[in-house]
Amino acid sequence: MRITDLNSGREIGANCMLAEFGGLRFVIDCGMHPKHAGKQALPRLDLIPGNVDGVILTHCHLDHLGSLPLLVRQHPGTRVFTSGASALFARRLLANSVQVMKRQREETGNVDLPLYVEQDIERVEHALTAVPIANPRKIGQGGEEIILTFHLAGHVAGAVGLMIEHRKKRHFFTGDVHFQAQRTVGGAQFPRQPVDTLVMECTRGATTTIPDISRGKEEARLIRSINRVVDDGGSVLLPAFAFGRMQEILKLLDESAAEGNLVDVPIFCSGLGMDLCGYLEEASKKTKQVNFSQKVLRELGVQSLSRRYVQPGKNLPVQGIYVLSSGMLVENTPAWRVAANILDTKENAVFFVGYCDPDTPGGELIGMKSGAEFKFKGLDHTSVLKAEVERFHLSGHADREELIDFAKALSPKDIILTHGDPPARAWMKETLTKLLPGTRIHDPEPGVAIDL
Ligand SMILES: [Zn+2]
Ligand SMILES: [Zn+2]
Repeated sequence: MRITDLNSGREIGANCMLAEFGGLRFVIDCGMHPKHAGKQALPRLDLIPGNVDGVILTHCHLDHLGSLPLLVRQHPGTRVFTSGASALFARRLLANSVQVMKRQREETGNVDLPLYVEQDIERVEHALTAVPIANPRKIGQGGEEIILTFHLAGHVAGAVGLMIEHRKKRHFFTGDVHFQAQRTVGGAQFPRQPVDTLVMECTRGATTTIPDISRGKEEARLIRSINRVVDDGGSVLLPAFAFGRMQEILKLLDESAAEGNLVDVPIFCSGLGMDLCGYLEEASKKTKQVNFSQKVLRELGVQSLSRRYVQPGKNLPVQGIYVLSSGMLVENTPAWRVAANILDTKENAVFFVGYCDPDTPGGELIGMKSGAEFKFKGLDHTSVLKAEVERFHLSGHADREELIDFAKALSPKDIILTHGDPPARAWMKETLTKLLPGTRIHDPEPGVAIDL
C-alpha cells in the first residue's frame, strides 16, 4: 500500500487520505477544516494523480465529509462507499454546509464561497453506495482488486472503521472511534486480529485519562450542575455539535426527566440539530446502526431557537437549557450568539460536553478566569465573564489507553497516526514506540507518500 495524507497540516483539520493498492487508487474521507474558511479549509485534492477507483466515507462529521462534493465534481462517475446510515445523513449535512458558506460570503465578502452548490450535492447523492456492515465487498479493475469491509466505530451514528485486504495484506483504518456504548450508538465492534497496517486516529493522545471519571458519573454531575444553575435562577448553554452530540444530550436530558431528576424549565435547540433528530430516527428504523426516536423532542417539549437574537450583553429573556451548535462555540453559530447573552450574568453557565479545539472561541473560554474579557468579533461586544464555565468529559473519541490496547491487539508492522494535534501525535508515537518495538510508527508529513 502507498498512503498519502492529503490533510493540509499535522492536525485534525480536513481529513483525507489517498490509499493506493497496485494500480487502484482510493480516497478515504474528504473533510473540511473547521477552523478555516474558503479554499484554505480544503484538503490537498490537487495531489491526487489521475483518476480514483473509489471514495470511502467513514462518517458524516464535516471534518471528514465537508469537501466531498468537490472531489466528486473532480472525479465524475466515482462511487462513494459508506454505511447505510451515513448515506442518509450526508445530504442534509452538506446542504447545511452550503448555507453556512453562503452566509460566510455575505459576512466576509470571500468570493470563493460557497465552494460548492446544491447541484454538487446531488452528484454526491448519486455517487453514494451503501455497504452493509461486516459484509466484505470486492472493488476492482483490470485484474486488481481490494476487499473492503466496514466495522461499526461507535463515535457517531453511521460511523465505521474499515479493513482493506489487498494481495493477502490487511490494512485497518479506525476512522474516528469510540469503544464504549453511547445512547444513540453502540461501542465500536472492531476485529482484533493481527494486521499489516493500522491507520489510527489519536484525537485524545494528549488527554490524560482520569481513572475515577466514568461516563455515568460525568453525566450525573452534568445533570446535577444544570439543576443547581436553574434552581438559582440561571440559564445553561450546552454547546454541542448538531450531529450526534446534540441527540446524545437530548436523550440524557429525557432519561433524567423521566426519572424525575431534571429541573422543569424550557429547552431550546438549534434548527439543524432538531432536523437531524428526524434523520437519526429514520436511520434507527432502516439500519439498526442507530438508536434514536423523535419522541425525545416531544417528551422534553423542545423548542426551536428563534433567529431573533437578543442584544449582546443582555441576559436571555427566557430562562432555560439551550442545547445549541457549534460544540466549539465557533463564531456566528447559534451557541456563540447566545453565549453573548450568557457570559455577563453570574447566575448563568456554559457547560462544554465534547472536544474543544484550544484555538476556537470555546477553547479560549475554557481557559478563562472569572472577570476576564471575552470578545465577540463581529457583534461589537465584549463580555466580562461572570457566568460559570465548566467542562464535562463526555467525549465521542476513544481514550488514548484504549487506542494503545487496540494497537497492541492488532500488532501491525506499521502504524500511521492521523486525526490528532501535534502533542497528541507525539504522545502516541512515543508510547507506541516503547510498547511495540517491532512496529514502525509514522506521523506522516502532509502530501508525502509512504510506501508500505
Ligand atoms: Zn467525527
Ligand atoms: Zn473527525
